[in-house]
Amino acid sequence: METAEYIQMENRYGAKNYNPLDVVLSRGKGVWVWDVDGKRYMDCLSAYSAINQGHCHPKIQATMVEQCQKLTLSSRAFRNDQIALFYKEICEMTNSHKVLPMNSGAEAVETAIKVVRKWGYQTKGIPQGQAEIIVCENNFHGRTVTIVGFSSDESSRKGFGPFTPGFKVVPYGDADALEAAITPNTVAFLVEPIQGEAGVIIPPEGYLKKAKALCQKNNVVLILDEIQTGLGRTGRLLAEEHEGIEADMTLLGKALSGGFYPVSAVLSSHEVMNVLQPGEHGSTFGGNPLACAVARTAIRVIADENMIENADKMGEYFRTGLKQIDTQLIKEIRGRGLLIGVELNPEAGGARKYCQQLEGLGILCKETHDNIIRFAPPLVITREDIDWAMENIDKVFSA
Ligand SMILES: *Cc1c(COP(=O)(O)O)cnc(C)c1O
Repeated sequence: METAEYIQMENRYGAKNYNPLDVVLSRGKGVWVWDVDGKRYMDCLSAYSAINQGHCHPKIQATMVEQCQKLTLSSRAFRNDQIALFYKEICEMTNSHKVLPMNSGAEAVETAIKVVRKWGYQTKGIPQGQAEIIVCENNFHGRTVTIVGFSSDESSRKGFGPFTPGFKVVPYGDADALEAAITPNTVAFLVEPIQGEAGVIIPPEGYLKKAKALCQKNNVVLILDEIQTGLGRTGRLLAEEHEGIEADMTLLGKALSGGFYPVSAVLSSHEVMNVLQPGEHGSTFGGNPLACAVARTAIRVIADENMIENADKMGEYFRTGLKQIDTQLIKEIRGRGLLIGVELNPEAGGARKYCQQLEGLGILCKETHDNIIRFAPPLVITREDIDWAMENIDKVFSA
C-alpha cells in the first residue's frame, strides 16, 4: 500500500484522538526509523521516552523472542520464574524495598493513588473518605478518568466528568504553595521531577528537596512520577538524583520495556506498600513472565551499555548545538540529559510547521503545546548523529 492509502484507511476507521504527522513507519533500529517508502528518519521523540534503549534493541529483542516461546502469561494466581528476578533486580537498581508491577503508566499512577489512600486511612488515621492528594498544575499523569480529573489541561478534561474527588492542585515549582496546601488529611504529593508533557518544565533548583522535607515533616508520601524522566532519560537513572533525594514512591513505565511491551511499576518503601492485602488490587497482565523477562533485559542494557552517562553527555552536546543556531525564532532551550525542550517565540507561529519541516529533512519530533518542540532521541545517540541532526535543525530555524 501507498502512504496515502494507509493514512486514509487509518482516518476512516480509527478514533480521532491523535493528530500524528503523516509518516507511516514500518521499521526501526537504534535512533533510526524507516517509513513504508524506505525513507530514513532520526527518531527524536522515542515514543515519548519509551524507546530510551533505541528501536528494536537486539538484546531485548532476543529476550522477547526467547521468553515468548517458553511462557507468556501465568496470571498472578500462580507464580512464574521471571517475576522474582525482576523484583529483585529493579529494587536493587533503584534502591527500593517493594515493587508492584502493572502495564501502562496510568495504571501505575492509579495504583499509587489507591495505595497511599489506604495507607492514609490505615496508618495515618485519616477519617474514611477524607484523604487528599496534592498534585501540580500542568501535570501529566495519564488518561484515566481519575487522572484527567486532576489535570489542569482543558482538552484532557472537558466532557469527561464527573471526576474523582480528593485532589488539590498547586502551582508547579512552588514549595510554599505545597506547604500551604498540606492539611492533616494529606496523604501524598504526586509530582513529575520535570514536567515532560507540559513542555520540559524544570522546577527551580531545590524544589524537590524542599518538597521532600515538607513531606517528611508532615508524614506525607512523596510520589515521583518518573514514567518519562526515569531510566536514564535525564542523564541519571532517576531524575530525583539531580536533587539528591529519594522519593517514598517512584512510578516507572515507558522505557521499562524498551518499547517492546507495556510494563510499568510502582516502587515503594515497605511501610506504604505493605498496606495492600491479597485481593485488594491486581492486573491480569501485570507481572507476567514476558513483561518481567523483557523488563529485566531492558533495565540491564541501560546500565551495561552506559546509556545514562551517554544521555548526560549527549544531552549537553545536543543543547550546545541548538544554542549555536542563529535564529530569532527560538525563545528558550532547556533540558536535562536527553529530555530537551525548545520553546519558540510567538512570532514563530506555532511549533507544528517546524516539526513538519524537520520531518521533510528526516527528523521526527513532536510539538508539545503550541509552541514547544521536545527533542528526546534514544539514549544510544552518538556525536555524529547529533552533528547530522544539528545541520538539519539549523536549516529549519535559520532559514
Ligand atoms: C506517559 C506518561 C504517563 C502515562 O503513561 P501511559 O503508559 O501512557 O498510561 C504518566 N506519567 C507521565 C509523566 C508520562 O509521561
